[in-house]
Amino acid sequence: SSNMAKSKFEYVRNFETDDTCLRNCYIVVRLDGRNFHKFAEQHKFTKPNDNRALGLMTQCARSVMGELEDIVIAYGQSDEFSFVFKRTTTLFKRRARYRVTPHTCSSPVVEVYLTFFLPLSLLAATLMDVWSCKRTVSRYGALTHLAFRQTDECHVNNLHNTVFWTLVQRGGLTTTQADERLKGTLAADKNEILFSEFDINYNNESALHKKGTTLIWEKRDETVTKRTKLPNEEEKDVPVTRTRRRVQAHHCDIIGDQFWEEHPDILED
Ligand code: ATP
Ligand code: ATP
Ligand code: MG
Ligand code: MG
Ligand code: MG
Ligand code: MG
Repeated sequence: SSNMAKSKFEYVRNFETDDTCLRNCYIVVRLDGRNFHKFAEQHKFTKPNDNRALGLMTQCARSVMGELEDIVIAYGQSDEFSFVFKRTTTLFKRRARYRVTPHTCSSPVVEVYLTFFLPLSLLAATLMDVWSCKRTVSRYGALTHLAFRQTDECHVNNLHNTVFWTLVQRGGLTTTQADERLKGTLAADKNEILFSEFDINYNNESALHKKGTTLIWEKRDETVTKRTKLPNEEEKDVPVTRTRRRVQAHHCDIIGDQFWEEHPDILED
């Protein structure tokens, strides 16, 4: 604190590089559970997708968004969540490597954060990508990050894991045999194994697993009746309509144009 005497080691502070994110750019923060496959094993997660874990992740991300209203969109799948902060945010002074200190942990949301994200990230050591530090993350950059997570991580991994665990759970293969079987296979081959051997059409698998979870703010008109009483009048019920912002979850494609055309306000140019 300011009244604390500066030690002779104070000069070290000057070696900290300036990691202030460029002004007027989006800031993308991605949290990914460290060594989470171990955690999943220890807690006997359902394979390939444990819905309790996904639900808990989403619940936490929702609370984080509710607390930090500068987050315009969040995208999560597997053990990760990406948060995109609006261009003009001044949160955490736009520092890319903001340390989580007891001081910053005092809000209730960070408590939720602590109970979920931190155990699997910080305490087990965090992997945290902060984009746009000294770099421009334009609307295009933010879109590209989200699309990249949905295709290369969510889609590619989920297709692979679905076939892998089907071969093990229904095909009776060992994990080593399933690995062998899938070596060098392309997406089309994997779809074919599912379809011809197990009568599974991958397209019909759950959207939550295929597309991950996208959280955005949505405006909703809410009408409530209020009991009011004016002087010299009878008490009566009056409808009052208010616009409320709520975090809404979607499990859809965010790579193509459709989603962005339907929600043009999320990321501005
Ligand atoms: P105090 O210790 O009372 O908060 P201080 O003058 O020692 O006051 P610090 O809070 O230590 O200041 O912060 C010094 C610099 O580091 C500031 O420029 C601030 O932007 C930055 N900073 C503050 N908190 C964090 C944090 N948690 N992670 C990263 N940088 C931070
Ligand atoms: P790293 O520390 O490098 O991130 P990791 O073990 O966390 O290593 P990831 O690539 O992040 O590896 O993958 C997370 C792993 O956690 C997945 O491979 C999967 O085994 C497991 N996992 C994550 N979420 C779930 C879930 N909802 N259901 C089942 N398994 C999950
Ligand atoms: Mg200090
Ligand atoms: Mg301070
Ligand atoms: Mg991980
Ligand atoms: Mg991961």
